[in-house]
Amino acid sequence: MTSPITWQHDADYERARIGRVFNYRRPSRYPIAVVEASEESHVDEAVRLAIQKQCQISIRSGGHSWAVWSVRDDAVLLDLGKFKEIELDEKTGIVKVSPSVTGRELNDVLQKKGVMFAGGHCPDVGLGGFLLQGGMGWNCKNWGWACEQIVAMDVVTATAQRLCCSENQNSELLWAARGAGPGFPAVVTRFHLQTRPAYTCMRSSAYTYAKKDFKKAMNWILSISASFDPDTEVAAVGAFTPESAEPYTTILFVTFKNSEEEALAALKPAEDSHPPGAVASFFFKETSISNEYIDQGAANPNGYRYRVDNAYINDDADVVDVLEDAFTTLPTRKSFSLWLSMAPGSRRRLRDMALSMQSDHYFATYVMYEDAADDSVASNWVQSIMKKVEKHSEGAYLGDADFQCRKTRFWGNEQGRRLMDLRRKWDPNGRICGYLDAGDGSRVNGLPNKHEWKL
Ligand SMILES: Cc1cc2nc3c(=O)[nH]c(=O)nc-3n(C[C@H](O)[C@H](O)[C@H](O)COP(=O)(O)OP(=O)(O)OC[C@H]3O[C@@H](n4cnc5c(N)ncnc54)[C@H](O)[C@@H]3O)c2cc1C
Repeated sequence: MTSPITWQHDADYERARIGRVFNYRRPSRYPIAVVEASEESHVDEAVRLAIQKQCQISIRSGGHSWAVWSVRDDAVLLDLGKFKEIELDEKTGIVKVSPSVTGRELNDVLQKKGVMFAGGHCPDVGLGGFLLQGGMGWNCKNWGWACEQIVAMDVVTATAQRLCCSENQNSELLWAARGAGPGFPAVVTRFHLQTRPAYTCMRSSAYTYAKKDFKKAMNWILSISASFDPDTEVAAVGAFTPESAEPYTTILFVTFKNSEEEALAALKPAEDSHPPGAVASFFFKETSISNEYIDQGAANPNGYRYRVDNAYINDDADVVDVLEDAFTTLPTRKSFSLWLSMAPGSRRRLRDMALSMQSDHYFATYVMYEDAADDSVASNWVQSIMKKVEKHSEGAYLGDADFQCRKTRFWGNEQGRRLMDLRRKWDPNGRICGYLDAGDGSRVNGLPNKHEWKL
């Protein structure tokens, strides 16, 4: 074996086990060894090692899954953090990229070539976990899911076989990769992604309302978001501001255009129609992908413990009522709740792929704190919010989920069944760690794809 390997008894084991894990709510789970791959052949070797040791293999790309899915008991942990490749074909606009590359690393390279990839909002999320979950990237409501831009991928299977997957070969693995999340039954070593032309004029606006005006702010944005400009992302965030004694609600717009005239035309309807009484606002502020990464990075800082959950709210629900507590009763000053407008994209027929759950309203809550003693406060608050929200939800997004705390629907019924069948076909022995539920018992069976709490 030529790949760097750290065993459980080695001095460096703790760094290798959790050094690249984003969530400081670190798990008490212990792999037998960590393989830090820096080239594709190391991936083959890691899979062979797991076969030889008759244990499972878990995978880490960017280390940002909230529930730390990469760290599993008694498995070989394959860490792809040192395996970095970005290769753009300027003629086709297709970029070949290894899964540990982050959205910021990719766009730093692409921007110089006049193209972009609508990856995750936070700079340091790995493309591996992000794309496999579907990928709620920039302006997802209009441009679609990031996984729809995977034109092909290279994988190493559970039996250590290298395969290329596209619409023409091994297409069922491509179908699964677009939405299987941490239950994908192979290791992806390279994505081939279709980029889009970069935008030369990005502008943003924001309107912040006091807690008493939560309903006013939400009713306004709900009334205009679905038909808003097609190159503009629209979100609402409930959070404390540095000065506020209570959580405020901020309605945010980020537009991607190629001229000031277009950007102004996009953002003017919000400026003209926003309700009076905003405690703070800005209009038509110059921004860029790099600036947005800085802001998003600041909103999700390193070094904190996070407890996160999410739901797609039913289109016919009273969204304002369903989300009021989540936005206005946040348990810590750093926590925030998010409503992301998904319409009109959520109303189009999705292509045939595992990802099959969406509604007009995406909701997620991110509880952030420093002290392990607050774990139960954070957990209880999230549970109480989700108990109410789930009654009005279609299901949830894998990217902000933790199946150890709550299982729900993540796919349409037919897609969920097909995905679990494909997992059994491609990895009948459950070599590759799957969905980490309570006690890690689901293994080859996968998830039931049912609301656990809904009455
Ligand atoms: C601060 C922050 C911001 C976020 N913002 C967004 C956002 O804007 N949009 C969005 O959609 N999501 C977002 N997420 C969620 C994020 O996409 C998921 O947490 C995702 O799992 C992170 O990917 P990763 O590779 O960094 O994670 P990892 O923890 O490295 O991977 C997660 C799991 O995915 C599987 N996996 C990863 N790589 C491979 C591979 N090469 N082959 C096979 N399986 C693999 C494994 O099961 C692995 O354990 C955010 C998360 C954080 C922490």
